[in-house]
Amino acid sequence: MTTDLLDEASVCSYRAAMHKAVDTLADHLGTVKKPYAGRSPQTLDAEVDSIDLDRPLNSTGAALTEIRDLYLENAVWFHSRGYAAHLNCPVLVPALAAEVLVSGVNSSLDTWDQSSVATLIERRLVRWTAERIGFGASADGLFTSGGTQSNLQGLLLARESALEKNDVPNCSRVENLARMRVLASDQAHFSVATSAHTLGLSPEAVIAVPSDREGRMRPDALTAELDAVRRRGDVVMAIVATAGTTDLGAIDPLKRCAEAANTAGTWLHVDAAYGCGLLNSRRRFLLDGIERADSVTIDFHKSFFQPISSSVLVVQNASTLRRIAHHADYLNPRQHSVPNQVDKSLQTTRRFDALKLWMSLRTLGAHELGRLFDEVIDLAHKVWEEFATDPELRFFDQPQMSTILLRYAPDGLDEQIVERLVAEVHADLFADGRALVAKTRIRGQAWLKLTLLNPNSQTTDVAMILEHVRAAGRARLGQQDSSCANSVPASSTGEFAGAAL
Ligand SMILES: *Cc1c(COP(=O)(O)O)cnc(C)c1O
Repeated sequence: MTTDLLDEASVCSYRAAMHKAVDTLADHLGTVKKPYAGRSPQTLDAEVDSIDLDRPLNSTGAALTEIRDLYLENAVWFHSRGYAAHLNCPVLVPALAAEVLVSGVNSSLDTWDQSSVATLIERRLVRWTAERIGFGASADGLFTSGGTQSNLQGLLLARESALEKNDVPNCSRVENLARMRVLASDQAHFSVATSAHTLGLSPEAVIAVPSDREGRMRPDALTAELDAVRRRGDVVMAIVATAGTTDLGAIDPLKRCAEAANTAGTWLHVDAAYGCGLLNSRRRFLLDGIERADSVTIDFHKSFFQPISSSVLVVQNASTLRRIAHHADYLNPRQHSVPNQVDKSLQTTRRFDALKLWMSLRTLGAHELGRLFDEVIDLAHKVWEEFATDPELRFFDQPQMSTILLRYAPDGLDEQIVERLVAEVHADLFADGRALVAKTRIRGQAWLKLTLLNPNSQTTDVAMILEHVRAAGRARLGQQDSSCANSVPASSTGEFAGAAL
């Protein structure tokens, strides 16, 4: 008999352990002064290695204290005002409450007899999302682990649809697959390419359609590529439009993409992993045309402020999902009369991640979620207005969503040095830990990237990040040119307060 498993006999120790875990995190949040402690991978590797996994501590409390020092002390904190690196958001409290139930009950959303009402709750949320997109009553979908998996499944459905349509006699499935092409902009997420690879398409399958200066797919270039594919006798399996590119937040011209897909008789997948938050926002019009997609990727764990993992693939037409259904006698035999989500999923055992969105909607409502996303877009615009003419920083362009691309580039600095400074400043900031930014390349040029996803951040918080960028840039320049050696300002030591919960 053990009381280490959750059941009616262990409710006391369960309560104690859960409260202790919450207290450990809540207490620690008050001490977080910067997004990263700045320790090196080598240092942390040694700390992780030093723990003897074969000598248990025999108490959850002791294990929590140990992991606080190892994990919480060295985590990267997305809620910190100094964090502006990747597409990670601070998470909603009601969603965290849902996580307790999700892992405690541990429903598995594969079959009805492992989930019951949880399956219905997930289905209701899929319908809710489909309505926001503008899909009709025949829409369907399911929760996935993230945008990568949603994109993979969207393209899998596109592949099956194309194979069905282009069923050329005397042509094997392998030969057909070799002719399949996917058109996505040169700014599309890399998971489009990895999906094509996973789906057995040829290495040349994904064609990068040129984008305009803002990073949006050029409709004329799309038409030209569609013609070129047809002339070569290949088959366009899908057009992938991105609604919010990872770097520039650009939204491809969705209506034009839908028209092109319609004319070509091909599948339109819209990757709205980042831009999905617009569905609830006062900027909903930016997504006009999304309702004409065959499939849509939504990442609730990006612009809906949900904890990882929470994503959904929504399809216009439920029957397309049936193409990938598989049936196992022990799980979901063909003649079943109950709702089984596993019929549509690439996963079998699957978390009840949908409950987090449910709790968020029931507590705050969709309007509030949209307002939070609007806040970060507004913030990006305010930062641009205030700093666009900064003498030391050069901005790529006006922000389109909530990312800001910039370089440390005081007048007259050689392009080669500016390039190198991007990598150096990025590395120096991470090693210091007070301000985290990302770096990327756009059309051969290196850029620092700020992704703003914290609705509690103010212009002054972003100003502080920019000051860290300037200070790091000056310090690096000073190492080459001693006349600049003392130019690191005292203000660069400013710390960020952790955001209040
Ligand atoms: C983040 C992102 C993805 C991948 O989503 P994950 O949830 O990280 O798997 C796909 N597409 C776009 C445009 C993204 O920004």
